[in-house]
Amino acid sequence: MGEGVRAACVIGWPVRHSRSPLIHNYWIKQYNLEADYRREEIAPETFTDFLAHLSERGYVGANITIPHKEAALAMSEPDDRARAVGASNTLWYYNGRLCSTNTDVEGFTANLDAAVPGWDKHAGDAVVLGAGGSARGIVYGLIERGIGKIHVVNRTPERAAALQARFGQAVQPANEAALPHLLTRTGLLVNTTSLGMTGQPPLVIDLEPLPQQALVADLVYAPLETPLLAAARARGLVTADGLGMLLHQAVRGFQLWFGVRPDVTRQLRTLVETDLVK
Ligand code: NAP
Repeated sequence: MGEGVRAACVIGWPVRHSRSPLIHNYWIKQYNLEADYRREEIAPETFTDFLAHLSERGYVGANITIPHKEAALAMSEPDDRARAVGASNTLWYYNGRLCSTNTDVEGFTANLDAAVPGWDKHAGDAVVLGAGGSARGIVYGLIERGIGKIHVVNRTPERAAALQARFGQAVQPANEAALPHLLTRTGLLVNTTSLGMTGQPPLVIDLEPLPQQALVADLVYAPLETPLLAAARARGLVTADGLGMLLHQAVRGFQLWFGVRPDVTRQLRTLVETDLVK
């Protein structure tokens, strides 16, 4: 690598599973940049030291994955999104200061924008299944886009209540038993649980009560077509999958590090799809 090479990395423990190098190195080639994107497998006990010397290690920024997102938030200057979500997944330097954001928020909404432009103008209520780490980003993104009522259904009700405490009255914790009724006035249903993921039980939910114009989104991307998305498509509903979100969330970091806003293309999607089924 020559002197002028700008490098970024994904830091995690483990990090082998990350598709970020595939995505960013595809764009680097596509835009013919003098740049590189690497994996850094960093144990929790050495993360603080690693991040404190990120630029000395030759990096202009980084993605952060499990289990370091909260520590990255604490060690950087987070924007409103990262602070609200309580986790940072993208870091960059601005005037020598290490800044951070959480790009899951825009990854999710940009993926919906691509699936149904204007979805937020007549979305009605939203139902979010799950109240874990990713649900915080989804709820924040929905509030940012003006969705007035977000019903959160979670196995552990206390976590849904915690989302309401964090984000206010737009969030309404609800029981699973209320779902059939809630779905009748839902414009957007989002699965943020790990149900439906390879090796996990499927998410079993009757989509019949949903209005015909409802949009169904799943964060799970392995398998690409989850049982939830398959059921939604069988009912003729529009869907947005987890891979779309994963690709869109990568855009901002690439732009911040390398100065080019990259496109999420059909070709990139196919590349990652092929890797996911390996
Ligand atoms: P998390 O913080 O561990 O939360 C997991 C959620 O799933 C919790 O709400 C949990 O309920 C629920 N859950 C787990 N097992 C369950 C079961 N057997 N029955 C009912 N509910 C169950 O995980 P996360 O970070 O939010 O991630 C969730 C999923 O989103 C994962 O599949 C992840 O890969 C995916 N994801 C995708 C993207 C993307 O870019 N596409 C980004 C982030 C995450 P309890 O609270 O009751 O435990």
